[in-house]
Amino acid sequence: MSERLDALAAAVCDCKHCKLSDSRRHLVFGTGAGNAAVMLVGEAPGEQEDLQGKPFVGPSGQLLDLYLNAVGLDRGKNVYIANILKCRPPYNRDPAPEEIAVCLPWLREQVKIIRPAVIVCLGRIAATTLISPDFRVTRQHGQFFEKGGIDFMGTFHPSALLRDPAKKGLALYDFLALEDRLRERGIL
Ligand code: SF4
Repeated sequence: MSERLDALAAAVCDCKHCKLSDSRRHLVFGTGAGNAAVMLVGEAPGEQEDLQGKPFVGPSGQLLDLYLNAVGLDRGKNVYIANILKCRPPYNRDPAPEEIAVCLPWLREQVKIIRPAVIVCLGRIAATTLISPDFRVTRQHGQFFEKGGIDFMGTFHPSALLRDPAKKGLALYDFLALEDRLRERGIL
């Protein structure tokens, strides 16, 4: 991680801006390359993430790694992964709008430091928060939307793919579209 990202992580680690700080076991700041061209943003930590303090671990993380590796990406080298919320909502409920509002500035700071070329939104919560409030993953997955010099793309959350494996092929097409976009921009 870069020094600026380290400093931000240190600032976030004791955050008590919302009540999720009461129930978290670990705050999940994010992980990956501090100068990654691709950022992936999910919804919030789940049980395993809360236990381990890392994003996308367990079966959903393994599936995500398969997609990343299939298109030449690797969370250890050229990708950064974070979530809209840094603390787990109890019972994995959806983040409340007021929780998103107070947590989002942390993610925005991460984006300012990392300066990714592309942000992939994993699932409805990330896509409606970062792309458009009326974003529909089932209709608009795999499409790119330019905002502030960053290409945003929404796709299925890996947990949703584990629940509905019939969509795994659609997700692969989305990652292949991501690979094409990165090649067009000379990133891969
Ligand atoms: S979810 Fe975000 S705003 Fe709420 S306590 Fe955790 S880091 Fe702070």
